[in-house]
Amino acid sequence: MTTLEEKKAFLKLPIEERRAIMAEQADELKSHYDEIMEEEQGIEYGQRCTVCNTLDRFNYFVPDEQWAIIVPEEYRNGHVCLNCLDDLADEKDMFWEALSIYFAGKRGNVCVTDEKMAFMDSVDNLKTALHYLILR
Ligand SMILES: [Zn+2]
Repeated sequence: MTTLEEKKAFLKLPIEERRAIMAEQADELKSHYDEIMEEEQGIEYGQRCTVCNTLDRFNYFVPDEQWAIIVPEEYRNGHVCLNCLDDLADEKDMFWEALSIYFAGKRGNVCVTDEKMAFMDSVDNLKTALHYLILR
């Protein structure tokens, strides 16, 4: 916190000295800002797998009944990367099926949806459309 006395003392300094102090403060702010951006990007551009701790940019949806059997309880509330999901399923001699897979990158996104899921989506959309028409 800067006091009024400190501000007055700063204003009495020669202009070159004031500029040097301000440039130093700007550098400090910039590095602090860069740190925040890095942290935020880490969160925004991936999530850590709770099993192998890899930064993963894929997300997916598997049916709850598969998730409950394949993924041990201690990992269920976190993110499990596809590699680990597949290894866990293999250990249990189980098969898994992702209904949709998303990739969220820094410069691009893609969503791959299973046909069944797309069908369910379209049925839901149709119901919504019909509901909307009936209400009108
Ligand atoms: Zn993993």
